[in-house]
Amino acid sequence: MEIENNNLKKRYILVVEDEDDIVRLISFHLEKEGYLVESAGSGREALENVSRKTPDLIILDIMLPEMDGLEVCRRLRGNSQTASIPILILSARKEEFDKVLGLELGADDYMAKPFSVRELVARVRAMLRRLEQRVDYDLPAKDNASAAEKIIRSGDIILYPERHQVTVGGEESSLTHKEFVLLEVLMENAGKVLTRDVLLDKVWGYEVEVDTRTVDVHVRYLRQKIEENPSIPRYIETVRGVGYRFVKT
Ligand code: CA
Repeated sequence: MEIENNNLKKRYILVVEDEDDIVRLISFHLEKEGYLVESAGSGREALENVSRKTPDLIILDIMLPEMDGLEVCRRLRGNSQTASIPILILSARKEEFDKVLGLELGADDYMAKPFSVRELVARVRAMLRRLEQRVDYDLPAKDNASAAEKIIRSGDIILYPERHQVTVGGEESSLTHKEFVLLEVLMENAGKVLTRDVLLDKVWGYEVEVDTRTVDVHVRYLRQKIEENPSIPRYIETVRGVGYRFVKT
């Protein structure tokens, strides 16, 4: 049926927020953009909702009844079914702590309240665009890689730019979008030292709210996923006072 097909194509966004006014505001603007929007008013409700129907993206407030947004984020990232859903964290708390912790727990983006709805919509659109690029190449099996497919290999790590996949020792590693792009930039420039500013520009681009500490947080998270021993990294070297270098092998 026509209508159902149209609905299937719509990207589904879950808004996790207990303040009705904010839910209404966000929903109104996202629906206007053509997205399908549902909301959950607590952390538990959010997890239940996600287990019923996987969203394409989650907007997650930190201050929630029952279970806070950081815990929701941690649980989603800890489950392979939900580990790669893009998450944008919202927080009313000004503390830098929330932002760093949120990103450390695997959120892809962060906005502090009060926020501009226009900017929120722009970020959602950008996050979904990256997801689309990934889904288009989400082939069913690794064997389907055509001979011409570009890969970037280093030691045990193989990065498939088109499929947005990374394998470490043959095992698929589930990276968030930002981690993936960060690794891609580092591997493409293997042997070169990249400053935090350069990495910020290449990976985060227009997102003006992030600062250079964000790079460190993501590098730490990435190391946990790709390094055998994250405290003695074999692949991503810290170049003191400068930035990071992917070791050329
Ligand atoms: Ca709240």
